[in-house]
Amino acid sequence: MDNRSFDLAIIGAGPGGYVAAIRAAQLGLRTVLIEKGELGGTCLNVGCIPSKALLQSTEHFAFIKDGARTHGVESDGVRFDLGRMLQRKEGVITSMRKGVSQLVKSRGAEILKGRAFIERAGLLKVMTSEGEIAVDAKNILIATGSVPVGLPFLPFDGNHVVSSTEALSFESVPERLLVVGGGAIGLEMASIWSRLGAEVTVLEFLPRIAPASDAEVATALEKLLIRQGIRISTATRITGGTASASGVTLEAVKGDEALSFSGDKVLVAVGRKPFTGDLGLESVGVARDSKGRIGVDERFSTNIPGIYAIGDVISGPMLAHKAEEEGIVFAERLAGQVSPLHPEHIPSVIYTDPEVASVGLSEDDAIARFGEVKVGRFSVAANGRAIASGHASGMVKLISLAKDDRLLGVHILAHGASELIASAVAHMTYGGSAEDLARTVHAHPTLSESLREAALSADNRPIHALR
Ligand code: FAD
Ligand code: NAD
Repeated sequence: MDNRSFDLAIIGAGPGGYVAAIRAAQLGLRTVLIEKGELGGTCLNVGCIPSKALLQSTEHFAFIKDGARTHGVESDGVRFDLGRMLQRKEGVITSMRKGVSQLVKSRGAEILKGRAFIERAGLLKVMTSEGEIAVDAKNILIATGSVPVGLPFLPFDGNHVVSSTEALSFESVPERLLVVGGGAIGLEMASIWSRLGAEVTVLEFLPRIAPASDAEVATALEKLLIRQGIRISTATRITGGTASASGVTLEAVKGDEALSFSGDKVLVAVGRKPFTGDLGLESVGVARDSKGRIGVDERFSTNIPGIYAIGDVISGPMLAHKAEEEGIVFAERLAGQVSPLHPEHIPSVIYTDPEVASVGLSEDDAIARFGEVKVGRFSVAANGRAIASGHASGMVKLISLAKDDRLLGVHILAHGASELIASAVAHMTYGGSAEDLARTVHAHPTLSESLREAALSADNRPIHALR
């Protein structure tokens, strides 16, 4: 058996693992990155990137079909080619995978293709296509990510009952698509397939979609999505379901009412769970909580010295940039640096049109935690750039602490909100106040001026809002 020695062995080459490998190698640690599937993990192969490729392609189509005319652009008989869209998406993935490989190798980290199993702290076994390899590593980092959660009474079958992975590759547009779960995956996939002509129904268990977002913003998003033709049934509990060659039927309860929904396919998007299968954690004794998440301390160390974990396998939001940041901070702290981490200022985005981007606390959570808060709002419909470009739906909402004006949360519902949120994150990361944002000069005409207006409105002195 081949045998190799490293300072650090990383299991899983998703955004957590490959970023940790780059940073560790930059810091001079002899590093190996072990991946059983494709470089880039969930995010690059079946998550963030393919979903955004299809969201962009379908947004172009929807705009040319329905939006361009208002700009005086006529485009009769516009059609789409789903095969080309899927091919483009695959091309994006392939080229980015190559990029990840080059980045990791250029820093001097080694890539090992195979499935890793932890024998004990300090020793891994990797099943590669050429046989088993033993890897000695002073430190082992688990970055094995997550997998979709299914419905107990309607297991995934890859055809009629599917997860996001299959929904990113449907070869034809389903006539009727049921989506269970109105979170990030449900709403992004609903947008993609609805834009291509599917009749999409989103079934959400809680009283509103996007329940992790600020209530007012989520309610505004719901109205806009319904206007786009997506059917949404909230407070709807799925109680049973059957799938057959002819399609899927779901039984549900809403209040006192029994409901039934049928479709060609159902996308189950009710969350994801940490993936630690076949890693040997039980025999090594790595502790996990009731949700299967690996417990770690501030250095990302598990209860077993020499074994660490980051990303979707530990607690916190399951987001690529959270996994990346943990990868960087983990490597730096392992190398002896004192690196800051800002877990309370991790932005999140739902890439619908308009997008919802948030950082910090919702209004309800801010009141529950701090009592008195100030709230500033600005309607995107009053922003010059938004009006000129034809993307005038949405709002910016900002929450600050009443006693010292410190920013507690910023929530943006707007076209391009994913880019706008960065400045709010920067202000909050460095302890900024609503007044700091109000005094920051924003270029005109830009959508970002809406942020400044919301900050001004928190102090009752908006410029571009009627009294
Ligand atoms: P992963 O990316 O899941 O990577 C884990 C890797 O470990 C995998 O490649 C797996 O093959 C490998 N592995 C597992 N076990 C072993 C083993 N024993 N040996 C070797 N390798 C192993 N997040 C965002 O921030 N923005 C988005 O827009 C976004 N969109 C998403 C869209 C979809 C449809 C989905 C499903 C997710 C999306 N996410 C998004 C979430 C994001 O993909 C995850 O939070 C992120 O990928 C987690 O990174 P990770 O490194 O922890 O794990
Ligand atoms: P999620 O937790 O974001 O949303 C799941 C939704 O399903 C929630 O609204 C929940 O109330 C609902 N739900 C749960 N059980 C249900 C049931 N039985 N019936 C009806 N509704 C039910 O999970 P997701 O959308 O599956 O995404 C998984 C993970 O991937 C999330 O952590 C998310 O952050 C991440 N992700 C992020 C992005 C992004 O950043 N844009 C995109 C996709 C996925």
